[in-house]
Formats: sequence, structure tokens, C-alpha cells
Amino acid sequence: MSESWNNRTKLVHGGTRRSQYNEVSEAIFLTQGFVYDSAEQAEARFIETGPDEFIYARYGNPTVAMFEERIALLEGAEDAFATASGMAAVSGALTSLLKAGDHVVSAKALFGSCLYILENILTRYGVEVTFVDGTDLDQWRAAMRPDTKAVFFESMSNPTLEVIDITAVSAIAHEVGATVVVDNVFSTPVFSKAIEQGADVVVYSATKHIDGQGRVLGGVVLGTMDYIRGTLEPYMKHTGGSLSPFNAWTLLKGLETIDLRVKAQADTALQIATALQGHAALERTIYPGLADHAQNALVQSQLDGRGGTVLSLDLKGGKEAAFRFLNALTIPVISNNLGDAKSIATHPATTTHQRLADELKVELGITPGLVRFSVGLEDVDDLIADLSQALAVAQG
Ligand SMILES: *Cc1c(COP(=O)(O)O)cnc(C)c1O
Repeated sequence: MSESWNNRTKLVHGGTRRSQYNEVSEAIFLTQGFVYDSAEQAEARFIETGPDEFIYARYGNPTVAMFEERIALLEGAEDAFATASGMAAVSGALTSLLKAGDHVVSAKALFGSCLYILENILTRYGVEVTFVDGTDLDQWRAAMRPDTKAVFFESMSNPTLEVIDITAVSAIAHEVGATVVVDNVFSTPVFSKAIEQGADVVVYSATKHIDGQGRVLGGVVLGTMDYIRGTLEPYMKHTGGSLSPFNAWTLLKGLETIDLRVKAQADTALQIATALQGHAALERTIYPGLADHAQNALVQSQLDGRGGTVLSLDLKGGKEAAFRFLNALTIPVISNNLGDAKSIATHPATTTHQRLADELKVELGITPGLVRFSVGLEDVDDLIADLSQALAVAQG
């Protein structure tokens, strides 16, 4: 029944399990363990654990299971496994799948920690990684090999907001039998239909829009029942990256409002991008929902035209102008999360992407003047007024 519901209904009711008290709001089962009625029952449960049976919170917990079921319904995935953070999800999704001698093809425009996993960790265990420009399908085709086991990319990259063609890259990867793992944070589970479009495994940092109010860390991996239970779960439950019940509860409540929040944030982002486009203080306004964005046609087909909740502003005058702008903002906060109710401004070149070599920064478009702006739930006119006065200060 719940599979046929529309998204808003899935997000409010999906996966609900009630205790004997029939509570309205989902219960937090803040427990590590579960009591067995008898020694025989304990033995039976260790042989085979049923869908509503639990052994130990590292393996599963009722509150965590509610969160997994609700997000799986939204994503249209057969199954999901919740993790302690977005990085536990990314590293688990890849590490559980790979072994020494395997080859991976990855887009090079990646969140810093994702890049670290591919470049510094997997390679230490004998996995070979080829990096490509994710927007160039010829580079994906050229990089594929018979031993390519997985393909990895962020469907919308951070912080330059390049959009990658999930359908096309998945088709190329599937020709050699590679598993397509997509980090879908910037596309959001509200706008993306990554699994329908060909992705095999979808990963979210739930810390971002799923919480949406800056409270907890969390993550989730979605895919087929076979992959989640056969490949990922044994890895996660033995290596320890499971989500805590309290955080699962926070994320479950976040899912109830995510559709409303993310759509409002994307509406505001488009209005801000439109208002600031061509501003004298700006070299470029980057927003995938604008007609002049390099992959706007793809945004139309892949994301129903929705450009997401983040925009990037490239200021004239480099780092000095960007810092004057950041320091002049009165409503948005300077921080490095995104998807939050509060608008957040970040200077990637000196913070989230500081570690990257200068050449790579240039190649990825992470210029000294670039500011990433995660749009919150504030009033759009207040935000445009504040950004405009800060741009005037930046111009000096
Ligand atoms: C934040 C983020 C992550 C990591 O998530 P955490 O919850 O901070 O571990 C991974 N990928 C992308 C694209 C992100 O934005």
C-alpha cells in the first residue's frame, strides 16, 4: 500500500512501527540490546533475524528501521541501511563492494572526504582509481575497463554545482558490469530519481537536508535488497558505522517536513540567483536552475528543472572581496554545513577545499572569489536585501 502513496504521504507515514502504547509520534528505542523470551528464541534469532526482530543496535534497531523504510520508500529503493554519518555511508558503500585488484572510475569534482577515500584509502588496499571530468561522457567511456567494478560520482558537485548525467553514465558503466554509486546530497532525495534513472546505489549524508535543522550526523545507503543485505550490511554491522537510535529519530522527524523545506529552499535559491545574475560585483552566479547553467538541459530532464538549494557566487576581487562579503552578511551564518533551515555561506578555497592542490582548485573552478551559499528557510526578500548590501560592501 505505502508504495503507491505520493511522496508527502510516504514522508509522514512510511515505515511507522507502533509499540504496545500506540503512540502518534514515532518512539525512540534508545536501547542497545533486546531481551529474548527464552534461550531457544535467542538461538533462533541468531540463525535468522526476521524483519521485526532485533539483536543488537549495531545490527539494527526499531527507530533506525523506521528511518530506513521511510527513506527507501521516498527513493523508490528496495532497501536501505542507515549509517552514523554521510562519510560512513560513502566509505561503506564503496569498501563493502571492492577488493584488491578492482578498478574504480570516479568523477574528480568531489567533496573533500569522498576524494580522500578514493585517492588515499582505497588505493592503499590495492584498488586502482581513474578520475574523469564527470560532465564529459567521452572521458567516462574511455576510462571503463573489463575490471571496472564501480563508478562513483556526486550527481551535483560541490561547490561548483556541475550536474552529471546519471542515465548516460549508468548506461556506460553497465556495459562493463560496474556498479554505479551516486552521492546524491546536492540533488536531494526530493528532486532526484537516481535509482529510476539507472543508479544502482544511492548515498546521502542525512546530516544535510534530511535533518535540515543542523542537529545530528547521519547517512544512508540505498539499493537492491541483494546489495544492502548481502554486501553492505555484513560490512557495516561488523565495522561499526551504524546510526544511533536518537539520531535516527531526529532524521525520521526531518523526513516529515523535507518535501516542504527543500522545495521552499529551491524556490528561494532560484529567486536569489535570478536577482543577483549579472550583478556588477560578480564574475559569475552559478545555479543549476538558471537557463545559462552549462547543464541546464540536464537539470530539466534529470531533476524536473529544479536546481537544488545551493548556489555559488564568484566575486570579482578574489579572496579579499569574498571575505568582505562574508563578514558583511547579517542573516546567513558563516559555516560549512548545507541544507539547513539557516542560510549558510562558505568560502571553499580556504575551508572545505583548502587541502586541494592549487592546480586542482583552478581545474575545478574553486576560485579565490567563490562563495558557496546554502539557502535556508528565511524570507526571500530579507535574504536578497542582505546579500545585496554585502555585495556592495565587497565592491569596496
Ligand atoms: C556532507 C557531505 C558528505 C559527508 O557527510 P557527513 O554527514 O558530513 O559525513 C558526503 N558527500 C557530500 C556531497 C556531502 O555534502
